[in-house]
Amino acid sequence: MKIVVLPGDGIGPETMAVTVDVLHAASRRFGLNLELDHDISGHESLRRHGATVTPALLEKVKAADGLMLGPMSTYDFKDESKGEINPSKFFRKELDLYANIRPARTYAGVAHKVGKFDLVVVRENTEGFYADRNIASGGSEMLITPDVVVSLRRITRHCCERIARAAFELAMTRKKHVTIVHKANVLKIGDGMFVDTCQAVARDYPKVQLDDVIVDAMLAHVVRAPQRFDVIVTTNMFGDILSELTAELSGSLGLGGSLNAGLDHAMGQAAHGSAPDIAGQDVANPFSLILSAGQLLGWHGQRKRLPAFNAAAQAIEAAVAAAIEAGEATRDVGGRLGTAATGRGFVPRLLAA
Ligand code: ATP
Repeated sequence: MKIVVLPGDGIGPETMAVTVDVLHAASRRFGLNLELDHDISGHESLRRHGATVTPALLEKVKAADGLMLGPMSTYDFKDESKGEINPSKFFRKELDLYANIRPARTYAGVAHKVGKFDLVVVRENTEGFYADRNIASGGSEMLITPDVVVSLRRITRHCCERIARAAFELAMTRKKHVTIVHKANVLKIGDGMFVDTCQAVARDYPKVQLDDVIVDAMLAHVVRAPQRFDVIVTTNMFGDILSELTAELSGSLGLGGSLNAGLDHAMGQAAHGSAPDIAGQDVANPFSLILSAGQLLGWHGQRKRLPAFNAAAQAIEAAVAAAIEAGEATRDVGGRLGTAATGRGFVPRLLAA
């Protein structure tokens, strides 16, 4: 099974180096026969190939079984005509990775101010307020006059329907509770369609409890009592913002694993950005990317019914929890190690799982 590995920018190279060691260890321990194909994207690709991502790289990723994408300096990439393409958008759009699955749970050993919780944000990933991905050509943000900007949001019944189904399928494997997060009191037509479509899909899952919360109130609810949530389904921008909050509430943004999944392709990618403020200092938490790699293995396990991949995914999550509890983690989660040493301690833990 071939996985393309793109380290990315900022803390990407440090955290991906550790994650690569973990994938090799998981392959050995669980007999996964993983083949990792290392390539470049982001600033390094811009320097060497004149573009942050290339058509050849896309073809390689399409032919592979999965992609691990490191964090990207998306804020630096402003002009696509100069090769400055947002790699994250590029793969999500080109591979139609419509479901962004972002789990957040608390861990023993990390002080958490809001009590124990375990939830998943299921974020629509291909339209919404994301101006660089919701139309076929060009962008949906326009400078009308030097002082007037119009940003368009696209919502389609098709995309609402498939993200709702992803959320309900996930809920069936968990506590069977889905919460729709929306702003249908203001975005009456677009979010109205999102809510209606989720409610229609819910009829196919009578065992799943369904409720809905308006996004601004949701930020208060998730801080006050995150325990009341299981699977949260929402549109693109709300999901991006909400999942950063839930990751931080779980202990650190550095615990925010994430999977971008479509019908035929999947990409593991940490929920956070490139964190330039801590890049190159050996302090970045690699667990967000390691957990994302675990999610990618789990996606293969479920989709292709490969028990060894499911076992590897579960072992990675359990080993992360055990490492954090033992303090063999980075300082943001109360540990005493740097990025590289966290990886060196983690590999034997996984091999012994
Ligand atoms: P970008 O512009 O690429 O989004 P950013 O710094 O604006 O980068 P994030 O990368 O999401 O946004 O980081 C937000 C904060 O969380 C920063 O203070 C960063 O140092 C911290 N952070 C992000 N990822 C990690 C990590 N893996 N380990 C520790 N701290 C992290």
